[in-house]
Amino acid sequence: MSSDENETSSGVPEDAHAGAGRYRLGDVANIVSHHSADEIDSIESDAAFSPLSSRLHQMFPSLSAREIERMRPFGFETTWKAGETLFTMGKPSPGLVVILSGLVRVARRDAMGKLHRVTDQHAGHFLGEIAQLYGHPCLGDGHAIEDTKGLVVLSPQLRSLLVAEAELGEKIMRALILRRVGLIESGSGPVLVGDTSDAHMISLQSLLRRNAYPYSIIDAGSEPDTVALLERISACKADFPIVICPDGTVLRAPDENQLAAHLGWLPEFDPIHVYDVVIVGAGPAGLASAVYAASEGLSVAVFDSRGPGGQASASARIENYLGFPTGISGQALTGRAFVQAQKFGVHISIPTRVRALHCDRMPLEVELADGKRIASHTVVIASGAAYRKPAIEGLDRLTGHGVFFGTSPVEAKLCRALDVVVIGGGNSAGQGVVYLASQANHVHLLIRGRELESSMSRYLIDRIARLPNVTLHTETEVVSLSGDESSLTAVNCKSPQGDVSFDVKHLFIFTGADPNTDWLEGCNVETDDKGFIRTGSSVHDGYEDVDLTLETSVPGVFAIGDVRSGSTKRVAAAVGEGAAVVGQVHGVLRERQRLTGGAR
Ligand SMILES: Cc1cc2nc3c(=O)[nH]c(=O)nc-3n(C[C@H](O)[C@H](O)[C@H](O)COP(=O)(O)OP(=O)(O)OC[C@H]3O[C@@H](n4cnc5c(N)ncnc54)[C@H](O)[C@@H]3O)c2cc1C
Repeated sequence: MSSDENETSSGVPEDAHAGAGRYRLGDVANIVSHHSADEIDSIESDAAFSPLSSRLHQMFPSLSAREIERMRPFGFETTWKAGETLFTMGKPSPGLVVILSGLVRVARRDAMGKLHRVTDQHAGHFLGEIAQLYGHPCLGDGHAIEDTKGLVVLSPQLRSLLVAEAELGEKIMRALILRRVGLIESGSGPVLVGDTSDAHMISLQSLLRRNAYPYSIIDAGSEPDTVALLERISACKADFPIVICPDGTVLRAPDENQLAAHLGWLPEFDPIHVYDVVIVGAGPAGLASAVYAASEGLSVAVFDSRGPGGQASASARIENYLGFPTGISGQALTGRAFVQAQKFGVHISIPTRVRALHCDRMPLEVELADGKRIASHTVVIASGAAYRKPAIEGLDRLTGHGVFFGTSPVEAKLCRALDVVVIGGGNSAGQGVVYLASQANHVHLLIRGRELESSMSRYLIDRIARLPNVTLHTETEVVSLSGDESSLTAVNCKSPQGDVSFDVKHLFIFTGADPNTDWLEGCNVETDDKGFIRTGSSVHDGYEDVDLTLETSVPGVFAIGDVRSGSTKRVAAAVGEGAAVVGQVHGVLRERQRLTGGAR
């Protein structure tokens, strides 16, 4: 197995963000600084790339003359004089640049506005990272040190190149991914300033992390002097967290969508284009259908309200997915699928919530949270499921203030060396316990039943039993939470031994899941009594000779994965349905063409 396999999500390693920059005091106003070409010469080398040093040959490979010739049909030649800028951090990307002659210095700016040399690249090397594949703004600066001639490959042509030239494509893709890893480890990108235990700060960090985007933090909570210093940017507490973006813009308490929009993640959609298929949800099911549909030539758009990977991205280690004998984290698995979908030209918009489906017209329309409508001949619902909120007094008030649904390294870091409580008896709770036990002082696992055997896989039960810092509390039900405005202080329970309280600041909830179908209200997609979407012969007659087992009660609308009634709630099953639905989408498109004499 190549060493990439376990370590990259969108190629990005699980703990890549762990080394992300944290800044102490400094002149924050300097962050928004500019650099003359003269300064470029004296830029210091970037030591933060050292963990990847054994892979520098893959990160900055050189291309042979033959490989460059194969790339020529996808690009065009441009020249830069010594001292000119090829690309600038936070500004639109020119695409991937293959250096034909000359020398280019790539640098990144840190939170203090200081330039760090990433690399000097000369003829035969290429410039770019994963942002160039997506068409996102640049995360570094590029300056011509000598007169330079380059072959520019724009994002759409880069995607075509990666598909058309498999071997060369692998070399380029690996380098782009590793460079993103390097940027994450060195803490490039936006700077988040605020209290790291604040719910708003956690949500922004989680957004960036889920989407494998580099960032760094200035912790105003542990460094109160920083707050005073930051008064030059803002004196108002309500303005925090503050985000200083790569282009120098300062955002005050942005929500996830505002931040994503400012970072250039949200693509423009052509209002008159009609997609072959729109997929709602970028979990394993949605990503699988996107990859198969786009690789078979369909025009595909995907929307997800959070980030790629869905529930699977919350899994610290998936051990039952075929082909990964040592297991793989959900983020690594689905991050790769996300890059794969981008490679095949899927239009992906994250975070973008779909708020309605309009089925009373053809083409169908999905309505986005901002009111925009996207037209499509078919729609695949892959919106999955989300943790059910148990009826616990104080839960709403304390969610995000020490109470979390699921876990990721962002939350786990907060409870390092502390005692925590976990609720839930399923496999997701089991994985959560194993992961948290590696960070926390002690993990109390609370279940309502008498034993774990009926709800958790044997391998997880055995693993938990071997962990010295985990205690299982059976027949224990949480009734209320104590805490003040900003944090949890105790979890109060009923148990056979009487009332018991755990004095903890962190509670992780992994209770059963409800389908994400609230956005379908008002359209005629039929659900079962628990809200999961019904498909197949129980809800429609179908066409003769066309397999429509995944079609809902509305023609042209399909449902796959955890949101589908009767589905197996597993990653492999979701991926399988994602692949299978594409054949059925083709069937519907063909049938429509037949009935309309060519037009869809
Ligand atoms: C912690 C944890 C560990 C797990 N471990 C394993 C394991 O080891 N092995 C295994 O096989 N399975 C595991 N599972 C189960 C597995 O993750 C799910 O079965 C799988 O993710 C289902 O995929 P899906 O694409 O159908 O839905 P989901 O993964 O739920 O993805 C749905 C996506 O749709 C998005 N969405 C929802 N509504 C909207 C909307 N209105 N607009 C836009 N986007 C929307 C969501 O943001 C989400 O990203 C685990 C689950 C959890 C929570």
